[in-house]
Amino acid sequence: MIVFEDIQTLGRKVGLDDVGCAEADYVEDDARFMEEWIQATGDRQQETGNRRQATGDKIEEGKLHYLAKNGDKRYDPRVLVPGTQTVLVGVLTFEHSGHDYHRTLKSKLYELEAALKNEYGENIVNPDYQHIFCDSAPVLERRWAQKAGLGFIGKNHAFIHPTLGSLVHLGELFLSEKCIPNEIGVSESPERPCEGCTKCIEACPNHVLGVEPWDVTRCIAYETNHCLICQNCCPFNKVESGEFRV
Ligand code: SF4
Ligand code: SF4
Repeated sequence: MIVFEDIQTLGRKVGLDDVGCAEADYVEDDARFMEEWIQATGDRQQETGNRRQATGDKIEEGKLHYLAKNGDKRYDPRVLVPGTQTVLVGVLTFEHSGHDYHRTLKSKLYELEAALKNEYGENIVNPDYQHIFCDSAPVLERRWAQKAGLGFIGKNHAFIHPTLGSLVHLGELFLSEKCIPNEIGVSESPERPCEGCTKCIEACPNHVLGVEPWDVTRCIAYETNHCLICQNCCPFNKVESGEFRV
């Protein structure tokens, strides 16, 4: 058993802005949602393809195939890394992430792993599998961050930390030990913090927010990764002076 307070202390020591833990489990709701969503999006792409075929335009290749792959690993960390009992999530703000956030965040998680091994022994991870991730494997990062009690998923579909906002990067360290206590502060109603606010919905130039099901293919960030409009307007990204973080 790893004591959560130790993870918090060591996490801060290696320079993470926040850290949380959740018990590794099958995320059934996400699996069901994703299956329905891939089906609905695939149907829409097929319709678009058919229309383009009829007009002689080139048919665009579906870009969501990667999401349909690795479902068993994506929805259950214990399948991705055998023996996993705890998903540790580290948070780093854009400000502290440097030029290459993958590298910065991963190196902090490696440091944290080493510090935890010092306290609890080598067996806290499965050395035969990659067990540190940042944007690079089938890991539902936002959901695990939420399950770890670090924040919630907003109406803009971003993970939002209550004090750091949404301009944060997430990384995970899969641990082969239980953490006590587990799932500290999990938000029972993840949508509640957004209640009464519609700023991101109103600001989205493509009008894709607040519409179910969420059609990510119409989101500018899906193509370019460079649209932050729905995050720049979010009150959770305001600092004390009243200015927005970016
Ligand atoms: S990233 Fe841009 S296009 Fe996508 S939901 Fe946000 S504001 Fe809309
Ligand atoms: S802008 Fe408002 S509704 Fe949108 S994510 Fe932020 S708090 Fe939630």
